Amino acid sequence: MAKLLGGIEAGGTNFVCAVGDAEGNVLDKITLPTRAPEETFQDVKEFFSQHDIEALGVGGFGPIDLDEVSATYGTILNTPKIKWQQVDLLGRLKQDMQVPIKLTTDVNAAALGEYRFGAARDVKSCLYITVGTGIGGGFIHEGKPYTGKDHPEMGHILLSKHKKDTFAGSCPFHGDCLEGLASGTAIEARYGKKGIELTDDPEVWEIEAYYLAQAVMNYLLILSPERIILGGGVMKQPSLLPLIREKFIELFQGYRDISDVEKLIVAPTLNGDQGILGAMELVNEE
Ligand code: ZN
Repeated sequence: MAKLLGGIEAGGTNFVCAVGDAEGNVLDKITLPTRAPEETFQDVKEFFSQHDIEALGVGGFGPIDLDEVSATYGTILNTPKIKWQQVDLLGRLKQDMQVPIKLTTDVNAAALGEYRFGAARDVKSCLYITVGTGIGGGFIHEGKPYTGKDHPEMGHILLSKHKKDTFAGSCPFHGDCLEGLASGTAIEARYGKKGIELTDDPEVWEIEAYYLAQAVMNYLLILSPERIILGGGVMKQPSLLPLIREKFIELFQGYRDISDVEKLIVAPTLNGDQGILGAMELVNEE
């Protein structure tokens, strides 16, 4: 029998738990609302008790301590979800499940899922950016998520303000960083409406694309990934991806030869499963 792998996409709103095989087939999946830590861990344990998994990969919401030599390795740090602050995510899962467990960030897991099975399966490196309630990014280099000392926080970079944008920004730490200007939270704070209610207002998406195009350019110049995948709820606006490509070309000024921007800056292809597929891929060791 083929080996079974477990995956958890541990998010602030939901914990998605899944079981699958090494080829990226999801065989069972459940979405559990994120409750208080103890209750949530009970729900997770209950799901996996029904499956004989060999190993478990976890993509967790952050910030998380991913420094393997740190005393608090695997612990969730100063998240806005108060009850989850200082929760030893990795340690707690190890208590409940007697299998090898690996942990990374939720965006790193999504990046790994797209790299192995989705929009970046034909290239050697990729960057996955999620633009939702917050903004985050995961970089896959030499087949693995790059973590560094602390994991990257790509949503909090600084950009030039759009001339028509008078909004001060919504990031509690930096105000007008990328997340403070272009996350779903920022759109709602700027206009008093959610992005989905603003689909027909061209100025909203002009400003949004301007910020995301700058971010894409900065990431490309620093990391040089072969592909940049833009996912998350805000990217569901149909006009946004083409507009980002257009603004990117304007800003980049032909500095490097980008032969095909439609192959460089793309949408995800795994339809919401990139996080759990990437989590399982973390422990898929042949
Ligand atoms: Zn910030």
